[in-house]
Amino acid sequence: MNDHTIAFIGLGNMGGPMAANLAKGGLSVRGFDLDPASRDRLAEHGAYIAESARAAVAGADVVISMLPASHHVEGLFLGDGETPGLLADLPAGTLLIDCSTIAPASSQKLAQAGRAAGIAVLDAPVSGGTAGAAAGTLTFMVGGCKDDLARAEPLLRKMGQNIAHAGDAGAGQAAKLCNNMLLGILMIGTSEALSLGESLGLDPAVLAGIMRTSSGGNWVLEKYNPVPGVMDNVPASRGYSGGFGSDLMLKDLGLALEAAIARRAPVPLGSLAESLYAAHSRAGHGGLDFSSIISLLKGVRA
Ligand code: NAD
Repeated sequence: MNDHTIAFIGLGNMGGPMAANLAKGGLSVRGFDLDPASRDRLAEHGAYIAESARAAVAGADVVISMLPASHHVEGLFLGDGETPGLLADLPAGTLLIDCSTIAPASSQKLAQAGRAAGIAVLDAPVSGGTAGAAAGTLTFMVGGCKDDLARAEPLLRKMGQNIAHAGDAGAGQAAKLCNNMLLGILMIGTSEALSLGESLGLDPAVLAGIMRTSSGGNWVLEKYNPVPGVMDNVPASRGYSGGFGSDLMLKDLGLALEAAIARRAPVPLGSLAESLYAAHSRAGHGGLDFSSIISLLKGVRA
């Protein structure tokens, strides 16, 4: 397995630690990101840093991408109408694993183009946050052919703990959108409860401890408390930096709403969550971690 040469494109909050885990696991990693600081961080883990995405994939038999949104992934691999995409450079037999959270339709488009060129494509978005990426404990939700997943699994195991086959191409993204819609709702609901508690004179750490072991317990209270100082090593305790950007949450909620409209599925709370994250972004906080949404609720209360 360690014979693989992996091109890793997109070395941000998630891709950086994921690529570092592959390099630390003894694999040959050729990384690239548009951002020099992200490239430098990966270089510290012994990975080779390429000059461009095109140079990174040269000689790689596996390509992994971790980019912000659909247009980044489509632009990189399928091109923009003028410049051809990277897919044209990949030899038949290459395995392409896109871990970005994007529209299911974009993943299906990429898989179809891959099939035509003899390239195996998996959509494999992740859950577990930056802490899970650093610890190698991510959950992968995979769409695509089972045999291709069997090829990918030893590599995914270097970055994650749980690997679920959701179905055909795009199914990993569909699962991820459902999960993140719930996460957005949970973050807002938990923030609302903690803010109400504070206004009632409760210590947020005490209230969080009570709710964790009560019927309101959830992942946000367990791993990602939005109140500064309640938990170490979460974005709230470092000025809402790093983590999962509010604009990325807004993107995921938008994708969930698009899917819900297409299927006529009622998602009233998902829709409200999208509106609140849009207001938060419009107020200039889109670059802060998504747990900073608590400031919007405190603002309303004040
Ligand atoms: P990020 O903004 O920190 O990183 C994205 C990186 O992609 C940036 O460093 C950017 O420079 C790079 N990039 C963009 N276009 C590029 C291109 N054409 N070539 C090379 N590099 C390019 O974002 P992130 O938090 O790492 O999230 C990445 C994806 O993972 C998103 O789809 C997000 O929704 C998803 N995700 C994030 C988290 C999280 O907790 N941060 C958790 C689960 C899933």
